[in-house]
Amino acid sequence: MKLGVAAPETLVDINHLPLHDVVRRPDGGLRIGAGVRNSELAAHPVVRRHYPVLSQALLAGASGQLRNMATTGGNLLQRTRCRYFMDATKPCNKRVPGSGCPARDGDHRNLAVLGASDACVATHPSDMAVALVALDAVARVTGPDGERTIPIEVLHRLPGDQPHRDTVLEPGELITAVDLPPLGLPSAYRKARDRASYAFAVGSVAACLRLDDQGRVDDARLAFGAVAHKPWRARAAEEALRGGPATREAFLAAADAELAAAEPLRDNAFKVPLIRNLVATTLEELR
Ligand SMILES: Cc1cc2nc3c(=O)[nH]c(=O)nc-3n(C[C@H](O)[C@H](O)[C@H](O)COP(=O)(O)OP(=O)(O)OC[C@H]3O[C@@H](n4cnc5c(N)ncnc54)[C@H](O)[C@@H]3O)c2cc1C
Ligand code: SF4
Repeated sequence: MKLGVAAPETLVDINHLPLHDVVRRPDGGLRIGAGVRNSELAAHPVVRRHYPVLSQALLAGASGQLRNMATTGGNLLQRTRCRYFMDATKPCNKRVPGSGCPARDGDHRNLAVLGASDACVATHPSDMAVALVALDAVARVTGPDGERTIPIEVLHRLPGDQPHRDTVLEPGELITAVDLPPLGLPSAYRKARDRASYAFAVGSVAACLRLDDQGRVDDARLAFGAVAHKPWRARAAEEALRGGPATREAFLAAADAELAAAEPLRDNAFKVPLIRNLVATTLEELR
């Protein structure tokens, strides 16, 4: 709104809604109210102990002051940091459908290498959302047609020919909470950025890994950030890992299986080896 990107006629303050609690679910998981602040969630003892990937992702985002204000719902629904989207004097299919995408031939160093379209090559900037996708988290939503649940993995869309739609939410729908299933796997988040703090990711990896008695991969979950219009669940890499050896070579091969689909632009091909190395390093930390 400050930049003139959005000019809503009406603003609704949802701060007074009772969405500020983190509670244990009967199955051992967690329900996180949509109004819970990022700093509060990162510091929650159950999150720190059982979902370190989420705590680490939250603490890797923004600054202390911003995390004190940012909410679970708002962080999920933040919009792209593509410079043309944020400059209301420039054309941008996401801001003004049909006006064009100057990023494709312009400044796209930090834009998408996976799942982009001719209409838009933007990335989703959230760190928290990448961890939530790896954790199989589910958004609870209420709206004019009642309540529904949406796995975070499918909450955000790929751009296709409708890049103005970031998510599958319908007008009038409100996220009330995010549910986390119980997690029995060690987990971690790694973020690469242009400076050591207070910077958006140029690439990130959320990983969960469990080995069996023989030291082979029993279960693995991976999601990538800053590489696509949505947090990217790396299903092909997970498939390649399962049952295999927990070696750096196997981790790199799994990353390659996912990144075979990458279509880098002129200036962002560096993201492919960056993610590849982040995958291997993060999984090595967990084995
Ligand atoms: C300088 C800067 C650096 C940042 N760096 C990072 C970073 O490195 N990593 C990172 O992950 N984030 C980063 N952020 C994002 C930040 O952490 C906030 O989450 C983000 O700015 C959104 O603010 P908010 O959470 O207050 O949401 P708001 O601004 O209140 O909301 C964002 C959008 O979501 C909608 N919304 C909010 N809650 C709901 C709900 N419950 N249901 C439906 N719609 C809802 C709002 O209507 C609005 O459209 C950065 C932000 C800034 C300004
Ligand atoms: S990449 Fe997407 S957000 Fe950026 S200019 Fe192109 S259409 Fe707009």
